[in-house]
Amino acid sequence: MIQESRCHVLNEKPENPRGRYVLYWMQQSQRAFYNHALEAAILKANKLDLPLVVVFGLMDNYPEATERHYAFMLDGLRDVQNDLADRGIKFVCVHNEPKEAALRFSDESACVVCDRGYLNHLRVWREEVADRAGVKVVEVETDLVVPIETASDRDEFAARTLRPKIHRVWKDYLVPLKTHKPRHESTRMHLKGDFDLNDPNSVLSRIQCIRDVKRSPLFKGGYHEADRRMKAFVEKRLRGYAEGRNEPADGHTSHMSPYLQYGQISPLDLALRVMDADVPQPDRDAYLEEMIVRRELAHNHTWFNRDYGQYRSLPEWSRRSLEKHCSDRRDPQYTREQLEQARTHDVYWNAAQMEMVVTGYMHNYMRMYWGKKILEWSATPQQAYETTLYLNNRYFLDGLNPNSYGNVGWIYGLHDRPWTERPIFGQTRYMNAAGLERKFDIGRYVEQVDRLCWDYLGKGLKQVSAKS
Ligand SMILES: Cc1cc2nc3c(=O)[nH]c(=O)nc-3n(C[C@H](O)[C@H](O)[C@H](O)COP(=O)(O)OP(=O)(O)OC[C@H]3O[C@@H](n4cnc5c(N)ncnc54)[C@H](O)[C@@H]3O)c2cc1C
Repeated sequence: MIQESRCHVLNEKPENPRGRYVLYWMQQSQRAFYNHALEAAILKANKLDLPLVVVFGLMDNYPEATERHYAFMLDGLRDVQNDLADRGIKFVCVHNEPKEAALRFSDESACVVCDRGYLNHLRVWREEVADRAGVKVVEVETDLVVPIETASDRDEFAARTLRPKIHRVWKDYLVPLKTHKPRHESTRMHLKGDFDLNDPNSVLSRIQCIRDVKRSPLFKGGYHEADRRMKAFVEKRLRGYAEGRNEPADGHTSHMSPYLQYGQISPLDLALRVMDADVPQPDRDAYLEEMIVRRELAHNHTWFNRDYGQYRSLPEWSRRSLEKHCSDRRDPQYTREQLEQARTHDVYWNAAQMEMVVTGYMHNYMRMYWGKKILEWSATPQQAYETTLYLNNRYFLDGLNPNSYGNVGWIYGLHDRPWTERPIFGQTRYMNAAGLERKFDIGRYVEQVDRLCWDYLGKGLKQVSAKS
């Protein structure tokens, strides 16, 4: 079912009666399954008795993106190409900025359907396409369970203010999406792309991007890998999620965040799988809380606060409080370079940093600890904030995402409340190593990361963190 509230007409242009096809400009939602924008485009094409063409613009130097990010995305685009071909739909991937790719192919289209992005530059691209295209452009929201403006009309204060709003309406959206068959096959249409996506390494070599962060040895991208991982998670590890998800060494997590970042799997699809699972209710509820309420809170932030990612977007109470403690002595104090190289005195922190550097992933609880220590050990809160975002977006496969800005912001008080005042942190929440030791088998986590370092770097954590 494609609810009307997911669909937004972006301009007042007419459809082109001489259009050769309906165009789906794919950008955020890089998948052929459980994609409301794709299904809406098929329905439109069938209604106009036209074929459907899907275009994707693969650009050089996507802001902050590294080879690691591109490699993961290309795995997914290969799946998209093959899965769409199986459905009789032509997929064209061109070497161009996304909006330019959309505009180029809109010339011969009857109308354009696109998906929705929640970051500033993604919104600007869509505005520009709507403005410059000669035909009607309709945006269909498919990467959130509850459409962003249906859930709320403001930058929410915290999960506790968004949660009831989401819960009030989510049953209307937690419904399966029907797959439609295109009336006309388009795979034989003479529209040429610039890449053979079945050879991702050759595509990667032709793209300009930050080269010094390499492909993750643990994560392969794409819908089919996401599907495989999620099936295994639901079968073996969803049971126990409510209690076990916070244990860094336990693996009671789904690892879906990189796939969600590239739209390679749909959050609605994930939610329905979890709701159908034969596990205790608290496990299902805990997963839906994280994957819907928390994730959609971060999207709410980037949508309604266009200053997201800037220190000034943090709540006034936390900035005031952090600034009051700006001149407190930091001992130890580390530079960004020392942090990046995991050269601190704290073995837990170094392990977390190296898990991220090597694999592109870090367990959620360790992310909290990791971020809080950057705040504690940097010269100023502003510098700490910038370093946290920089490292987050450079190394995480799920970086460059609304969750990145929402959660890095959380370290500095966003979506949280004031706590007891203390040095450096002011009234923002404090975390320490004793908490990790008390709550978890943190030694086991360090051993796991040490093994990863040996496997992929040929040296252990101690050697990595030794002062050069
Ligand atoms: C400092 C810091 C930085 C973070 N940076 C990112 C980031 O760049 N990208 C990112 O996607 N997440 C980020 N997170 C949130 C969270 O840590 C990850 O989403 C989660 O660890 C991903 O692992 P998973 O898919 O195995 O999670 P699971 O426990 O299996 O959760 C399922 C899904 O729920 C969502 N989710 C889980 N925890 C959170 C949360 N705290 N906030 C919002 N959504 C959540 C994610 O989409 C996740 O894929 C950050 C958290 C912190 C504290």
